[in-house]
Amino acid sequence: MSELRRPIESGVPDSKQFMHPALVRNYGNWAWHDRPRPGVLRHVAAGGEAVFTVKAGTQRQMDIFTLRKLCDIADQFCDGHIRFTIRSSVEFTTPDESKVKPLIERLEAEGFPVGGTGNSVGFISHTQGWLHCDIPGTDASGVVKAMMDELYDEFKNEDMPNRVKITTSCCQINCGGQGDIAINIQHTKPPVINHALVAGICERPTVIARCPVAAIRPALVDGKPSLEVDEKKCVCCGACFPPCPPMQINDPVHSKIAIWVGGKHSSTRSKPMFHKLVAAGLPNNAPRWPEVAAVVKKILATYKADARPWERMGEWIERIGWPRFFEMTDLPFTKYHVDTWRGGRANLNASSHLHF
Ligand code: SF4
Ligand code: SF4
Repeated sequence: MSELRRPIESGVPDSKQFMHPALVRNYGNWAWHDRPRPGVLRHVAAGGEAVFTVKAGTQRQMDIFTLRKLCDIADQFCDGHIRFTIRSSVEFTTPDESKVKPLIERLEAEGFPVGGTGNSVGFISHTQGWLHCDIPGTDASGVVKAMMDELYDEFKNEDMPNRVKITTSCCQINCGGQGDIAINIQHTKPPVINHALVAGICERPTVIARCPVAAIRPALVDGKPSLEVDEKKCVCCGACFPPCPPMQINDPVHSKIAIWVGGKHSSTRSKPMFHKLVAAGLPNNAPRWPEVAAVVKKILATYKADARPWERMGEWIERIGWPRFFEMTDLPFTKYHVDTWRGGRANLNASSHLHF
């Protein structure tokens, strides 16, 4: 193989090349840290040097003008260093304490709220939505923007019993994560099949194998190979749509939003927890999702008023019990909230060819 054609093993780039020099100087050598005010972290190294990090919220999907504005702020206050977190907050780092106040004032004046640290509602983590993914049923990024506008003060202040992590997911099967509150798409009708396209673009065995309840069968329609769905079995998960786009499941009316609560990834204080469904069938009402915002705000207000200091959402619910949670939040509890998995052995796909 010639020199030119040799593959380059890129891997993850060395992060130190992007760090502020003050962080590189003290790397792995920190003595303590605190938060002088919401949205500001102070890390003090063993040698005594203090480094300040100012965290701000963004509008999630950023145009080039916003990115340039953020970079200009980094040039002015932080020697050209800027860092985006996995939740699309932005962090500015400087060892110069005199720059912290003017930096905060400039960020706030430009519309970037400073906060998201400690016991606040942190920036909402989101999946990609309509802009970047090919299977979403809603625009997770839009949901994030709409919710964060509603939760502006909760982001800027640290008034919650513990930190609150909110997540979104724009399909029922792929990315997203456990959250104190999770805002997830919920399909409520089986897919509608465009038979004219199936033979041309779908690998039928792959699609059949993906269905978790074995509801998809091969079929001949108008003399062409296609698929059919046993709608009594279908649980509307949407897993068939990615490998076979003609199995259209996204629907402007029947794709809804569901809210789950009480999940967490961390093992601080208690074990990681799975979130659980508390509200289903909310309208997927872009661009502001007011019905979803109302439920999220009601849950947050109840948690804030009733949880003990340092209780995460799931720990609070475990203490008061689920019946009390539904009473206090005025959310209806229905038979659909109960999943005992009874019958799962018979109707879940037991094939060894199941692929995800
Ligand atoms: S949650 Fe689903 S639809 Fe949304 S970005 Fe991830 S894979 Fe795509
Ligand atoms: S994969 Fe999911 S949506 Fe598709 S037919 Fe099976 S259960 Fe229904």
